[in-house]
Amino acid sequence: VQSELEFISWLQEHVPPHPRCELPLGDDCAIVHVENSAVVTTDMLVEGVHFLSNEVSPRRIGRKLLAVNLSDLAAMAARPTAAVISLALPRKGGYSLAVELYEGLLPLAERYHVAIAGGDTNVWDGPLVVSLTLLGDPHPRGSLRRHGAVEGDSILVTGTLCGSLRGRHLDFEPRVDEAQRLRDQYNLHAGIDITDGLAIDLSRVLAASGRGAIVDVDLVPISEAALELAHRANDRKSPLQHALGDGEDFELLLTAPQDEARRMLADTPLEVPLTIIGEITPDDGLRQRDRQGRITPLAADGYLHRTNK
Ligand SMILES: [Mg+2]
Repeated sequence: VQSELEFISWLQEHVPPHPRCELPLGDDCAIVHVENSAVVTTDMLVEGVHFLSNEVSPRRIGRKLLAVNLSDLAAMAARPTAAVISLALPRKGGYSLAVELYEGLLPLAERYHVAIAGGDTNVWDGPLVVSLTLLGDPHPRGSLRRHGAVEGDSILVTGTLCGSLRGRHLDFEPRVDEAQRLRDQYNLHAGIDITDGLAIDLSRVLAASGRGAIVDVDLVPISEAALELAHRANDRKSPLQHALGDGEDFELLLTAPQDEARRMLADTPLEVPLTIIGEITPDDGLRQRDRQGRITPLAADGYLHRTNK
């Protein structure tokens, strides 16, 4: 695929029709069926900031572009419906790159029944920049928000933390179905997806809710990758420090009343692990509790890729 025209006919051949979209690709706008309100999120990935194209294949970048947006909808327990995609392509080989990006994201779109409603493509002298805006239906019980944690709530996480440095930040499974199932069956108070590290994303929930938390560091589910990383001779962090601070886990962090959280664990409603890692406190500090019960402050730092740290 060498030109914009060829790319557009490739898209028309490969982007399937979808019941949410009234028109096939090709008009000035898309017409997407939504009910009363749409949950909307957008994310941009920039070469040199979020990925290096000599290290990561365009297919994986395309998949990740959709997956990060799916993870944001999962954080609010919304069901994804339709996406629009904007690409700024490098002049050399740009359109074949675009095809590979789509080849990476189309299977994930199919998996979560996301319509590709439309998009825009430009060629320029700069690096690859890709952006996707995703619409979703709010959960019938209401959208989950960062705001809403109250004292006494248990703090829960899905999966295990810190696999990102072994490539999981590219190939992770967004917790769309898990969020739906938990919101369907349980009374959840607050939620967020872990993108910048457990400690920092928890502190965002606390700030929005005007509360504090104690994390039982012994209970934090640490991935194999974090253990491996910490065992490397030149690594100065413990597995726990990786799990608390490393970004791009894309797991859910939730709060729920303590008895509800216990019921969730007893029911095992998910195929991935679900772990209680601490509790919400009335004050506004973030603290950690060790195995001996000692409580010390926990720094809310992590991998702040959004602020260029
Ligand atoms: Mg998020």
